[in-house]
Amino acid sequence: MTVEELRPTVAVPKVGFISLGCPKALVDSERILTQLRAEGYEVAPSYEDAQAVIVNTCGFITPAVEESLSAIGEALDATGKVIVTGCLGERPEKILERHPKVAAITGSEAVDDVMGHVRELLPIETDTFTGLLPVAAHGMRPEEDLLGPTVKLTPRHFAYVKIAEGCNHTCAFCIIPKLRGRQVSRDAGAVLYEAYRLIAGGTKELMIISQDTSAYGVDVRYRESEFQGGQVRAHLTDLAENLGEMGVWVRMHYVYPYPHVEKIVALMAQGKILPYLDVPLQHASPAVLRRMRRPGAGKQLDTIRRWREICPELVIRSTFIVGFPGETEQEFQELLTFLEEARLDRVGAFTYSDVEEADANALDNPVPEQTKEERLARFMEVAQRISAEKLAEKVGRVMDVIIDEFNDDEDDAPGTKLIGRTKGDAPGIDGQVYLYAGDFAGLINIGDIVKARIEDSDEYDLYGEVVERPAWKPNVPQLGHFAKH
Ligand code: SF4
Repeated sequence: MTVEELRPTVAVPKVGFISLGCPKALVDSERILTQLRAEGYEVAPSYEDAQAVIVNTCGFITPAVEESLSAIGEALDATGKVIVTGCLGERPEKILERHPKVAAITGSEAVDDVMGHVRELLPIETDTFTGLLPVAAHGMRPEEDLLGPTVKLTPRHFAYVKIAEGCNHTCAFCIIPKLRGRQVSRDAGAVLYEAYRLIAGGTKELMIISQDTSAYGVDVRYRESEFQGGQVRAHLTDLAENLGEMGVWVRMHYVYPYPHVEKIVALMAQGKILPYLDVPLQHASPAVLRRMRRPGAGKQLDTIRRWREICPELVIRSTFIVGFPGETEQEFQELLTFLEEARLDRVGAFTYSDVEEADANALDNPVPEQTKEERLARFMEVAQRISAEKLAEKVGRVMDVIIDEFNDDEDDAPGTKLIGRTKGDAPGIDGQVYLYAGDFAGLINIGDIVKARIEDSDEYDLYGEVVERPAWKPNVPQLGHFAKH
């Protein structure tokens, strides 16, 4: 008999997983999936294969709550065993009201608790072989875990790296601080080790995320921690500098315009990190910003001008809310004027809507729905024109483009048409670059960073052709050869 034949047959429990919400929730999902795998569970690809389902929920705005509740219902119908985690899990009464039969509910950042419930629902039968599988001791995840998640839900070539959880602000329209608590920053060493491991495994672009990235480290008083034998401070400029040394694309999200951000922009000008800032400004009228209780809402235009002086290549992305309670036509005009003057590269906008339990619900003078919609349309018209003008300036240039997917038609030879992003485009939220591979047809892989000549543009996207495929040389040793993905 072979060893394999001697091995007792032990059925491996299979767990389904539904991940909803923002990139921050995605990182939580990666952590849970990593631990599931480490403990010997299989992740089921469909409800039919799953014996239980974990639903990582979002509770930010009403449509997200609805989506989460219906996902829980679907998973319950399919398997009868559902563990709910994530933002909506911070409001168990909401879940139980609609779905009293869920097996367990935890809040966000609760890998240990989720795993405890999984073990109760689907105990793994231990034998000589599977009994040796490692189980993380209580408290080992996530903050004490220097390696961070090892299962990724994004493609190999990019990854979200969460540097802090929670938020110390009290924006009137937001319930994140109530759901996720005050800010807790990770040690810089933990973040850097995670980045290092990702890059060694083939990741080329890191998206740095948190609720308020500029405030990273404030809660731990910029505590030092170990990275590769030295000490690093939990401070955004130090972190950005260290990440920049690794020689990959590093992109900053949710950065508020605090004074020290100038130092981050200086690193961009030196080519250490991507010349890209995702700065959620939400409005430009000082009175509206005051009512919103926004952090860092000083002289936004001056700040942006200074940033552009330091780094002329800088691409700024922002989001705005129109129709916040009490917004007058004049205040809205201030926003439009700001948009014209700031000439932001990428802009998203939403009409204001109440979020359950948000303080803004109690504000006087709600803006009528029709007015909100009209203002949104006027806002988007200006934003689109500026975006089109800024993209037109790129025509004729040769730009670095990271390839996200193939775009071949049926008749094309494989790898003839590609879709990618420039350094100024984050995945999922910004524009794309549609490319012909030209002489490089069939030679380019997903995740390659190529040089492309931009030949055309429209409101949101660029069009061009590959002119070079430089070798990829990060400053981190590569674990293997990843020619094909
Ligand atoms: S900064 Fe404001 S909008 Fe962002 S998470 Fe904190 S409270 Fe919410």
